[in-house]
Amino acid sequence: MDCLFCKMAAGDIPVNKVYEDDVCIAFHDIAPQAPTHFLVIPKAHIGAVSEVTEENSAIAGHLLAVIAKVSKELGLESYRVVSNIGESAGQSVFHLHFHVLGGRDMTWPPG
Ligand code: 5GP
Repeated sequence: MDCLFCKMAAGDIPVNKVYEDDVCIAFHDIAPQAPTHFLVIPKAHIGAVSEVTEENSAIAGHLLAVIAKVSKELGLESYRVVSNIGESAGQSVFHLHFHVLGGRDMTWPPG
């Protein structure tokens, strides 16, 4: 499968990594939308939140725990976690990822 984030997770494409374990990696977004903007992705290929099932939900839960841990390590106290699902919602890479954005005030609703 020709998946950019699978290649990053496998170490075939270099990333600015902030965290790695057996299940996932976290790295800075190449086009940051906030002073801190990193992505957390599973090493296993899951297309989006819409493909999370009872069978793989432990991976998704682990990603949330990593978001909490890494955000704290990076000094974020208030931040936004976003996952776009489908093109209309803004998804451009079809491998599950959570955006973590912080370091500036946010507005609501998002565009
Ligand atoms: P999406 O648009 O699917 O919600 O989010 C994909 C994110 O991946 C975007 O924020 C985009 O900037 C980021 N991205 C795309 N290609 C690369 C890359 O080669 N390196 C890094 N670090 N981020 C990337």
